[in-house]
Amino acid sequence: MNNSKIWLSSPHMGGNEQKYVQEAFDTNWVAPLGPNVNGFEQDLEQYLEENVQVAALSSGTGALHLALILLGVQAGDEVICQSMTFSASANPIMYLGATPIFIDSEPETWNMCPVALEKAIQDRMAKGKKPKAIIAVHLYGMPFKYDEIKAISVQYDIPIVEDSAEALGSSYKGQKCGTLGDIGILSFNGNKIITTSGGGALVAKNKETKDKTVFLSTQARDEAPHYQHSQVGYNYRMSNISAGIGRGQMEVLEKHVALRRTMHDFYVDFFKNIEGIAVFQEPSKEYFSNHWLSATVIDPEKTGGKTREDLRLFLEKENIETRPLWKPMHLQPVFEKYPYYGTNVAEQLFEKGLCLPSGSNTTEEQKNRILSALKSFF
Ligand SMILES: *Cc1c(COP(=O)(O)O)cnc(C)c1O
Repeated sequence: MNNSKIWLSSPHMGGNEQKYVQEAFDTNWVAPLGPNVNGFEQDLEQYLEENVQVAALSSGTGALHLALILLGVQAGDEVICQSMTFSASANPIMYLGATPIFIDSEPETWNMCPVALEKAIQDRMAKGKKPKAIIAVHLYGMPFKYDEIKAISVQYDIPIVEDSAEALGSSYKGQKCGTLGDIGILSFNGNKIITTSGGGALVAKNKETKDKTVFLSTQARDEAPHYQHSQVGYNYRMSNISAGIGRGQMEVLEKHVALRRTMHDFYVDFFKNIEGIAVFQEPSKEYFSNHWLSATVIDPEKTGGKTREDLRLFLEKENIETRPLWKPMHLQPVFEKYPYYGTNVAEQLFEKGLCLPSGSNTTEEQKNRILSALKSFF
């Protein structure tokens, strides 16, 4: 029997990626600009709709960094951030010398809890500082409670940075994730729903913001024949080679979303008869998740004592990769001294949650291996 490793989420090429990369070599556009960068941005703009303007960058982290700069975040400012997320959501706050204020999750979408968010804003304002931005995340592709978060953002006049790194292909009430925030960001890292081998994008609402993003991401060069700078710049533009991969990946994005959703259905089907395991599901028809990762919550009180760690170790022996949910930022050694608002929702999810192999390239044979491993565990 083939016992090769089954990954949580691995790159899945569509077929035309190398054609675009070859074109870049043939025309010598081997640089952080060129036809693939423009083409990839156009593909994303068409896909996302809403007349957005996309700037392709070298990473999602870089996109978040620039988003905060565009919103005027400076040293000493406070920025609100969902606690349960990947550290890349919060790190850019630190790059700017600002202070992260972490917010708990709510149990339905596992994303930013609107109640804790409003409490945090009121408390920070009472302490004398109004937060400069709200970084909200669509975890594992699940849209956050947009209407509730947006209402708070409008009421207190604090812009939303929409971390859509995991949610390209998801939508909320029919509107694509990435276009919901005042500024959106995407990631094309190797394990995301599509990859450019490494890359990201900033989704802007107007051309001015996009132009500013491109300017900052290419060392903030003023218009002059020599190199002149009146602002600090960054080297964050996407390479034309990476963008070629991205163009090929955009051709298969919808197909990959459908396949990830099939993986989700596969787990829902298996776990429906097993006591104590809940598969992470869309709370209502308004939420459409790309199901980037299929996640479960395991309650040992109902599984006869079997924990998520038992399952993880069991599957590891079968050469099947799984991963606990994101460890909340307020519990991370690097961030634990910063303010946190909420109860223990994120913490509970972290203790009991496990992500299962979700790749759009999971084969039938691999699915059968996962199935028999799960059966023998339960
Ligand atoms: C992957 C990811 C990022 C960072 O994107 P990179 O392209 O890897 O820098 C940011 N936020 C979340 C939630 C992510 O999953």
